[in-house]
Amino acid sequence: MSTADQNPIIQYRQTIVIGSGTAGLSAAYQLYQSGCKSVLILEGSNRIGGRILTEYLDQNSSKPLEMGACWMHGLQENPVYELAQRENFPSHTGTILNFDIGTCVDENGTQISSELHHEVDQFFESLLQNTRDLFEFQQQNNTQISSTSIQKVFLEKFENFLNQNGADQETRCLKLKLLQRRFDQETGECGCQSMEQVSYSEFGSYQRPKGPDMEFPCGYSTLIRYLRAQIPQDWIVFEQFVENIEWDTNNQVRITCANGNIYECDYVICTIPLAVMKWSYKSLFTPALPVWKTEAIQKMDMGTVDKIYLFYDQLDFFDGDSLAIVYDREHETLDIKKEWYKKIFLFQKVYDNVLLCWITGDEAIFCEQLDEIYIGDVLTNLFRKSLKNNDIPTPSKVVRTQWFSNPCSKGSYSYVPVGASSWQHIRDLAKPLTVHNK
Ligand SMILES: Cc1cc2nc3c(=O)[nH]c(=O)nc-3n(C[C@H](O)[C@H](O)[C@H](O)COP(=O)(O)OP(=O)(O)OC[C@H]3O[C@@H](n4cnc5c(N)ncnc54)[C@H](O)[C@@H]3O)c2cc1C
Repeated sequence: MSTADQNPIIQYRQTIVIGSGTAGLSAAYQLYQSGCKSVLILEGSNRIGGRILTEYLDQNSSKPLEMGACWMHGLQENPVYELAQRENFPSHTGTILNFDIGTCVDENGTQISSELHHEVDQFFESLLQNTRDLFEFQQQNNTQISSTSIQKVFLEKFENFLNQNGADQETRCLKLKLLQRRFDQETGECGCQSMEQVSYSEFGSYQRPKGPDMEFPCGYSTLIRYLRAQIPQDWIVFEQFVENIEWDTNNQVRITCANGNIYECDYVICTIPLAVMKWSYKSLFTPALPVWKTEAIQKMDMGTVDKIYLFYDQLDFFDGDSLAIVYDREHETLDIKKEWYKKIFLFQKVYDNVLLCWITGDEAIFCEQLDEIYIGDVLTNLFRKSLKNNDIPTPSKVVRTQWFSNPCSKGSYSYVPVGASSWQHIRDLAKPLTVHNK
């Protein structure tokens, strides 16, 4: 039994914020701006930033390697971009990274023409646009089509498209593989295992600000450091993993951490990620949450997107900025132990000597447990075969993220699955449990 268990010191603050990611720090910043003095952020890990984590190429380097978020999505009316402009964060000078494909090959090294993969990508983009139009139509007419998945609808439409365009069997087969690659890429946009999980009717509800995506040239952590600098330094305590929130409506809220520390407050702002919430909400709240809140937690979903960085002396074997590999699949679902790497939908050159590989879903979760040297060996074999070059060296270093294994994230980002409603469940996730005037 720890000392804290025997004789816990109970600390009081008017407001406690759980989590020091962007949401928690922004909430604390707003409270500070509004004149609140009695605030504390309880952070479960030993650092601020949550799913924003910038590492650097080397100790003296200002070249960022983003382990989590990297883009401000769309610049028009984007509050993050507006803040960056207002506060004169360093402006961007380099290229803007996106998921565009440079070289496209199959696993055996056959080059796939850019016309072919552009044709598939453009068709896919037009289907994505249709989902936005559909969502708008549903809203205007106060109606909703029955729940089905993006994968099911897109596949049907794609097969019709192939039938109408009279492709021969070989081209048809290749186009279907290109479509699978595009589905895998979309799992990277959505943060899911498969597009079979993602709601077709709700897909268009995600409206990103217009305009190009942009990176923070000195790393996304610029934003985190800025937010932290705006609030009193003693407002954050680390390694306070919250295990229970006693939220009796008549009394103060009592928060118990895994280390036995207890905090009391009048208000709690909980920014625990959805995936952590899904794992823990039954024991996290006393009394249990009301049905409308648990339904929102259960219905919405959050999956895993990981990054694998490969470091080399130089990347002279790699032409252009990015490589997409179209894999052979024996079965529709991959044999994870043997084929996990086939879920990597893009390899991007982020620096002259660094490649970034994107992987999602169960394959990403599996990869989180693999030895990094082994990952480097598997990917070297893949490159040697698909780029037809046996001299490709093994990387000198491999770094992969572990967003699922991290108990403070349990995944990467959320999406609206089949059967969930963005209008109802996202709103219910954000809605306060009690409304009262203190
Ligand atoms: C690989 C990856 C790529 C991404 N790319 C982009 C991108 O390009 N653009 C973009 O806009 N977004 C991107 N995102 C999403 C973006 O990072 C998140 O949406 C955003 O950072 C979430 O902020 P948050 O404060 O809500 O949650 P988090 O950043 O997850 O913060 C939650 C905090 O709560 C803490 N915590 C968790 N549980 C407990 C507990 N029980 N007790 C106490 N503390 C706890 C965590 O340690 C963490 O600090 C990406 C995410 C990942 C993982």
